[in-house]
Amino acid sequence: MVTTKKLLTNLDSNLPGCYHIDANYKLVKNGFPLLVFARTDAEHKIHPIAFCLSSHEQETDFNACDASYNAAVKLFENVDILMCYFHVVSNCKKKHFNVFPNSKKKIVKNYLRNLHMSTSGTNMTQNLVDFRDYAVTQRECSGLYYYLKKSWLIGRFRYWQITDHLAKYYSVRQQNFATIPVPDSKAKKYGEIFSIQKYFKRIDKESWKFNDSTSHFILNLKSQKCNCKFYYKKGVCGHLIGLNKLVSKDEFVRKAKRGG
Ligand SMILES: [Zn+2]
Repeated sequence: MVTTKKLLTNLDSNLPGCYHIDANYKLVKNGFPLLVFARTDAEHKIHPIAFCLSSHEQETDFNACDASYNAAVKLFENVDILMCYFHVVSNCKKKHFNVFPNSKKKIVKNYLRNLHMSTSGTNMTQNLVDFRDYAVTQRECSGLYYYLKKSWLIGRFRYWQITDHLAKYYSVRQQNFATIPVPDSKAKKYGEIFSIQKYFKRIDKESWKFNDSTSHFILNLKSQKCNCKFYYKKGVCGHLIGLNKLVSKDEFVRKAKRGG
């Protein structure tokens, strides 16, 4: 095992956070796995904690690393294990959709992405029904649908969807950890577009409802949260940026108070 005192300071279990564990089998000639244990911050930057070379590994299979799973469950109390979305897609690709025509690959990737971006159990069920409805009409895709269901939607590696707690996976103790999510260009663009009154309605002291022709979300100004999938994934979204811009305009706040 290789680590340093400085790397070990990334191991801050006093605060809620997300750790990552993964193995690479392609770096060492004799195929021994190199294990990496790390954390990510609010900017999705990775902070390694330790690297280990193992001469043997038990409990592995081709889909996911059972040994890593068991180690994490043993060492961390009340831990939620999340499967890496990249691994899910990469396995689906290898086993199934590499042979699909490009047009279908794109559609299937979109369905997988929608499943990953599920904001709740109900939303997840709906996204799966949508995929099933598509897959059963396409000869090549039904195999993938059943593979996905069997391998990635039951059992210990079934959680790879964004959820309520995912966006907060950083520590506030470490100076080198980014603690404020940085909006990407898309979020900034939509923040600009949404910063007008017609999109927002005040519900109570802290909550606002966002509404456009296709979607509606609930935002909390005090906790700076939104219940859209972009917020769950990135910790920031166009709706939140838009609302913050809007309430910083005095005129709107006064008007909204009078109305409510
Ligand atoms: Zn949002």
